[in-house]
Amino acid sequence: MQIDTSRLESLLASADRIALVGHFNPDGDALGSVTAAYHYLKDRGKKPRIILPSPYPENMAFLEPDDPRDRMLICENDLPGARALVAEADLVICLDLNRLSRTEYLEQDILQTRASKVLIDHHIAAELERFDLAISTIGVSSTCELLFWTLLSLPDVAGDPGRLSLRCAESLYVGMMTDTNNFANSVFPDTFEMASKLIARGVDKDGLQEKVLSCYSVSRTRLMGHMVKDKMKVVPQHQAAYMLLSNKEKERYHFQPGDSEGFVNLPLAIRTMQVSALFTENIDGKYVRVSLRSKGTINVNKFAIRFFNGGGHRNAAGGRLYMPLEAVPAYFEQALDNWPEEEKFS
Ligand code: 5GP
Ligand code: MN
Repeated sequence: MQIDTSRLESLLASADRIALVGHFNPDGDALGSVTAAYHYLKDRGKKPRIILPSPYPENMAFLEPDDPRDRMLICENDLPGARALVAEADLVICLDLNRLSRTEYLEQDILQTRASKVLIDHHIAAELERFDLAISTIGVSSTCELLFWTLLSLPDVAGDPGRLSLRCAESLYVGMMTDTNNFANSVFPDTFEMASKLIARGVDKDGLQEKVLSCYSVSRTRLMGHMVKDKMKVVPQHQAAYMLLSNKEKERYHFQPGDSEGFVNLPLAIRTMQVSALFTENIDGKYVRVSLRSKGTINVNKFAIRFFNGGGHRNAAGGRLYMPLEAVPAYFEQALDNWPEEEKFS
């Protein structure tokens, strides 16, 4: 994949302080893309800093920059610090988010900064007009894949993955591996080419897989069993299944950020199941986080937009519900009943 990076190159050339911003509840792709961009820019002599709206899963802490002064800044721990970084930046690069509101806290700061703004993202319907430059396509597995092809197209890398540091290569691999659910979803021919080039570059595929995907505690594994055995509700007429995760259960199973990663995929292993949903009570009890997954041509992106204040991709989307957890089953089952056929298969 070739990407026209002439405009990006001129923005990078004239910037020194560069803020790299990921989305709320950062996943592997958000973390992988901000850290890969960090490593590339640091190696190039720039002053990059990473800003994340909320904490990231502990198992991916190894992606943190080595320099303690460059530790990722979490808005929920230091919002004034995050705002200052945006205000002082020459360039703001948003990664793995299609709308500035996905930064939760920084929408106005990013809009008002004098810095140029770049978007690198793979979601549907990105807010292109809010950026000076948007590298945006849904024809890739992940933001990390899009960033990989973007970096390769820059003049100093010149198509040679050997010119990316190993840290940068590892970050890119982790984001792609997690967003594809380890090569299960949204994989394109170029995705395998990316993997092949990164492995040839020296990325330890098995080591990263073990670190990131085989990293859970006993209590997380028991929680997963509890969810499937005691919590999964099947709605056979809609070939759908859903699970609710409450704060009480999180406490009982010593829940850590990232522990529910993958739960929503479990019901889709059932032959007849086409749609799966996970509803998680937010820690402050103010809203319920929604995770949706589907098989094949069923479009949960539009389902998330219409009923769940969110969005995402065709087969993986998310959002929020502002209601008590107990009210969710009735709301969800009604949403399934009212899901317009033409949107469901679009
Ligand atoms: P997850 O279920 O893993 O949290 O999210 C699945 C997909 O939906 C991700 O690609 C994510 O970007 C998107 N997504 C999750 N939550 C939201 C949300 O609140 N708003 C929007 N627009 N997209 C979301
Ligand atoms: Mn992503």
